[in-house]
Amino acid sequence: MAAPRPPRFDAAASEVARAAAAAPDWTTLAQVNRPCVACPELAAARQHVVVGDVPLAGRPRFALVGEAPGATEDETGRPFVGRSGALLDQLLAEAGLDRGEAAVLNIVKCRPPGNRTPKAPEVARCGGWLRRQLDLLDPPVVVALGLSAAKWFLGPRTVLAQVRARPHEVDGRAVWATYHPSAAIRFGPNGAPRAGLLADLTAVAGTLA
Ligand code: SF4
Repeated sequence: MAAPRPPRFDAAASEVARAAAAAPDWTTLAQVNRPCVACPELAAARQHVVVGDVPLAGRPRFALVGEAPGATEDETGRPFVGRSGALLDQLLAEAGLDRGEAAVLNIVKCRPPGNRTPKAPEVARCGGWLRRQLDLLDPPVVVALGLSAAKWFLGPRTVLAQVRARPHEVDGRAVWATYHPSAAIRFGPNGAPRAGLLADLTAVAGTLA
């Protein structure tokens, strides 16, 4: 199944897609992405556009794709560095995965006010940046963290419980959908999301060994 495309009538989404497609490499793409104001509400409230982290050199072994930056990410300009990021780092280590070998991205690069769920037009517009990031980085495996990211890759009717724990081929990549670390925090150390997230990351590590 192909990742969703922006609606044809959305001029801002088209402009993002055009600007992203013209970037020949990651550094240029990040430079063009940072001043983006395609979503006026998000652009007015953010401190940073959180473009994402990539390995220092070479192709990422896998990509982690979340929903959107939180408060700490907005302050620092880096993805998954708050409480969710700390738990993600811990579970990656337990699973035998090295964050330094991953691209760490979000489907929306600006923090939604109050950490609300991104709106459909915001997801559609920012999708132009993410599609180009994936084109340029070309990770063979993607881990979609949480339902919003899972829907971006697998379609709007996705039910997380029905798609997790196995890979799905999307545009030539193996896409795994699993819980977001924030759900693992919300349900506690003995909750199903934490165990499910660890199990899925461990399964991904097994495919990369
Ligand atoms: S969320 Fe994405 S598309 Fe919207 S303003 Fe931020 S960088 Fe641009």
